[in-house]
Amino acid sequence: MRCPNCGSASIGRVGTEQYYCWDCCVEFNVAGSGVRIFHLDAEGELIAAGPENVPGPAEPTPRPGPA
Ligand SMILES: [Zn+2]
Repeated sequence: MRCPNCGSASIGRVGTEQYYCWDCCVEFNVAGSGVRIFHLDAEGELIAAGPENVPGPAEPTPRPGPA
């Protein structure tokens, strides 16, 4: 098992199918078919990260108007 984020082998198990990477400080969950990566914020909250949830500059989508 290696970290899916940085490829490090310095990982520890924190739960069922859940691991923590000591190198890049992310948690990841290998349940199911894919790997889900969670970042820990300053308060220890888990922030989901991944292809479907990539933090980036929020660009407001223009709306066509009231439906
Ligand atoms: Zn890592």
